[in-house]
Amino acid sequence: MASERDGKRPPQTWARIDAETQLVGVMGWPVAHSLSPAMHNAVLARLGLNWRYVPLPVHPSSVGDALRGAAALGFRGVNVTVPHKQAVMAALDEVAREAAAVGAVNTVVMSPDGREAVRLVGTNTDVAGFVGSLRAGGFEPAGGGRAVVVGAGGAARAVVYALLSAGMDRVVVMNRTPTRAETLVADFQTLGIAQGRLEASALTPERLLQAAEGADLLVNTTTLGMWPRTEDSIWPEGVAVPGSLVVYDLVYNPLETRLLRQARDSGARTIDGLGMLARQGALALAMWLDDPLDVEWATALMREACGHALSDRRNNSEVSAAV
Ligand code: NAP
Repeated sequence: MASERDGKRPPQTWARIDAETQLVGVMGWPVAHSLSPAMHNAVLARLGLNWRYVPLPVHPSSVGDALRGAAALGFRGVNVTVPHKQAVMAALDEVAREAAAVGAVNTVVMSPDGREAVRLVGTNTDVAGFVGSLRAGGFEPAGGGRAVVVGAGGAARAVVYALLSAGMDRVVVMNRTPTRAETLVADFQTLGIAQGRLEASALTPERLLQAAEGADLLVNTTTLGMWPRTEDSIWPEGVAVPGSLVVYDLVYNPLETRLLRQARDSGARTIDGLGMLARQGALALAMWLDDPLDVEWATALMREACGHALSDRRNNSEVSAAV
């Protein structure tokens, strides 16, 4: 793809919005504080494309109408965020395997040719975004090993599916509300994904320490540590994190959470949540564009754009978890 970065094309100005402008965006409710427009537009601008990524506030009662309306208006695709990730499935022509297994769609690809009936295909780039960021952080899940996943919400489902698909030998899901972890495990067992490698547990400090002993990877998928309660952590105070663990925190605001600080102070390797956020965005954009996208390059640029957007916001409490 010709672009500013390889010197083949001068940078375009954002002023050019015309009949050729291609649209993508993010549907959520609310969506005003999503970081996705900043990170997608940063890449589109650097590529010199006449594309825009727009926030689309869509009330839960209108998801299907909004999706069909966007397709009719010629949108090339949309991201879908809280609270629509499940509801949107009913309006799609096709749901990719990983999105169906996870139970959430975060990306919809729309047929580019507005003259034909537009086909709406939903997928979930959080799964590949997580695995890719894990590998970029130096952890190879295909090597097997044991993972402890704390939390059993939407993000946990993508993480657990990713770890099992990538080849981890064993995954323990621990949650404050144990029944939610049990439901996650039962769902994946029914789908044939777990194959005896997945177990559920209540989240208590004692059980966490026990599960982490000898494990290879610890992933926090809870909201603990997220702004404004930045002193919260899943890890008990005053206890060293096993130095052999890789500790991954999905929370990206702040970038270094208390958990990651505890891990770093104990000599454990850490991975922050911004890599996953950026990579799922780059993977979505790659699906929408006509030409191949250098996903590594786009991920790095999106990460940088998110970092700027986060630090630019005077009041960090304005940044929602929605992407
Ligand atoms: P969710 O579906 O609402 O799940 C929240 C999880 O946090 C549940 O397991 C919940 O446990 C747990 N939790 C909340 N408060 C807790 C507490 N005080 N003590 C123990 N556990 C607690 O949310 P989600 O969509 O999975 O998102 C979770 C986090 O991941 C958010 O911080 C979000 O920003 C982050 N995330 C990051 C990315 C990324 O790209 N980096 C992507 C997706 C999500 P209960 O079931 O007991 O309530």
